[in-house]
Amino acid sequence: MGVVCTEECEIHPSSDMSSFVQMRLWDDSDIPTHNLMTEKVHEHDALAGIQLVHNGIHTANRLSRTPALSPSGGSVTWVDPYQTRAMSKRDIKELRGWYRDAALRAKQAEYDIVYVYAGHDGTILMHFLQARYNQRADEYGGCLENRVRLLREVLEETKEAVGDSCAVALRFAVDESNDSQLHFDKEGRRIVEMLADLPDLWDVNISGWQNDSVTSRFGESGHQEPYISFVKQVTNKPVVGVGRFTSPDAMVSQIKRGILDFIGAARPSIADPFLPKKIQQGRADEIRECIGCNICTTGDSFAVPIRCTQNPTMGEEWRKKWHPENIEPAGSDDKILVIGAGPAGLECALALSKRGYDVVLAEKDQEPGGRVLLESKLPGLSEWKRVIDHRIYMLTQKPNAQTYLQSALSEQDVLEYGFERVAVATGSTWRTDCVGRSTRNRISIDKNARIVSVDQILTGARVTGRVVIYDDDLYYMANVIAEKLCADGCEVVYVTPATEVAPYSHATLEHSRILGRLLNLGVEIICANTIASVGGSKVELACVYTDVTRFVDCDALIPVTERIPLEHIFMGLQNPEQLSDHGIRSVESIGDCFAPGTIAGAVYSGHMYARQLDNPLDLRYGFARENYPPQDALAWPLESTAEN
Ligand code: ADP
Ligand code: SF4
Repeated sequence: MGVVCTEECEIHPSSDMSSFVQMRLWDDSDIPTHNLMTEKVHEHDALAGIQLVHNGIHTANRLSRTPALSPSGGSVTWVDPYQTRAMSKRDIKELRGWYRDAALRAKQAEYDIVYVYAGHDGTILMHFLQARYNQRADEYGGCLENRVRLLREVLEETKEAVGDSCAVALRFAVDESNDSQLHFDKEGRRIVEMLADLPDLWDVNISGWQNDSVTSRFGESGHQEPYISFVKQVTNKPVVGVGRFTSPDAMVSQIKRGILDFIGAARPSIADPFLPKKIQQGRADEIRECIGCNICTTGDSFAVPIRCTQNPTMGEEWRKKWHPENIEPAGSDDKILVIGAGPAGLECALALSKRGYDVVLAEKDQEPGGRVLLESKLPGLSEWKRVIDHRIYMLTQKPNAQTYLQSALSEQDVLEYGFERVAVATGSTWRTDCVGRSTRNRISIDKNARIVSVDQILTGARVTGRVVIYDDDLYYMANVIAEKLCADGCEVVYVTPATEVAPYSHATLEHSRILGRLLNLGVEIICANTIASVGGSKVELACVYTDVTRFVDCDALIPVTERIPLEHIFMGLQNPEQLSDHGIRSVESIGDCFAPGTIAGAVYSGHMYARQLDNPLDLRYGFARENYPPQDALAWPLESTAEN
């Protein structure tokens, strides 16, 4: 039997995480919404769990406009210019009441497991444990016994309220991975010892979220084991934990070695919701393994539906009726040519072949994989190769899909081949002229300047000496190249028009690690500057806020700004009469050739082409919106969840 557990669920308006989208169980009016979920979970013979949370100092209450609460006052942990109110004894009593009420509502909503949550440096029960937030002089502060008091009370009262029919789990961060007292070998362990058999289940991890859900660039699968492995020695109750486990062997090893009793899978089941089923059915080779990129967490950060690099259907199950495993049968006998075996072409060919179409995938290079093959050779990105490994393997299982390597196609080839449908997934190329989101006009570039393109770096170009990397892409590429060049012995100057390095990486929980790594490597960082001109052995920088300019000496410049779609084949196949003369019914571009973006975007684009071929969605925007009248919205969800 499995358990499907929610993420954090707010218990009260004084824990309002807006503008992030979080679940709510503020009052009885929220119960029916939760019921929709628990009913579905029970239909599949699984248990439903809910993580009841009050976020304390970690909320700005932007919607409710209620002052946030904390053990001892102080500023909220967001940028909002508000301070929390130090809780009185009456507040503590009320808070306990809110927990109790929320637990009763959870029971009414038919949850089977009710979580008390003290984790991620973002929950009030953890704030009371943490000496840096809790400087109270009463029985809730001071010694550890006192700081644990509130957590113990809430656990006991939750058990009393719902323990007759619900299991009460404690999610607890045993370590903060910083220099606080909450270390796994100090207070973390003592807290587990103090509460050992009080919860029915221990769910243990490390704090904060960026440490718990570390990306593969900065942490391996199972990286929490050294921190949490003591827990089972201290309690008789079962222990669950996470570790971005995608391999059944790693999971079994955790159980056999007595580290965990249950395997928690959040990102692995985002990448492949049928992971447990595939293990059960002996189809582990078909698991779409998480690559640890944290594109999934960007949905949380930007308050939009979740998305996933490996699983294009994630977040689209209701909006587009995309089932993670099932796909509509082919709508015609058309034969399809997909040009380019990058992530877009591979996903497109795979999804089309699953639909039953005859597909030919043509790739000009010796190996399939496109940008993923190249990028996965950069420092820390090796797991990203799973995007192509999975698809290449699955395609080899499909008799109706053929892949031809070293097959650079021309427009003429396409016209002559006789396919009815053509999907052009020829990718994109990085700009070398420094034009990007911050510099739309062309700048002066000396003909003697050494400009090295990202594509050249990806294909093995050697650079030496002092190198300026100009990052107007604002995500990972520039800083991964910086790491590589440092390892190659270069002196790196990192210039960005943004006010901080790689701002998008906040959304993937990587920002502090990226910045820390660059600083540790001795990279010189210059923010808030564009490149105004490029000389033979120097670049001119221009402050984005003032008229100040300056020169920086360098032996080479690597602009990491934008990409240009490689669409000449697509553009050469736009004459309707010519196409119809050759029996071609449609030519579409997909992936980076259509619009450069993330690898997740390319996979999504390839999948969408395959889904919608001969099967246009009867929806104005291609996806359902929540403002549908209730009866239509309820009629819309997937009817069948069986696998093909
Ligand atoms: P995307 O992210 O959209 O999948 P990529 O750049 O990763 O784009 O992949 C594009 C792929 O298309 C590369 O593997 C490239 O070698 C291939 N390609 C480009 N032009 C041609 C062509 N004319 N014929 C066949 N393959 C091509
Ligand atoms: Fe894993 Fe990346 Fe998908 Fe998140 S987005 S589940 S990290 S593959």
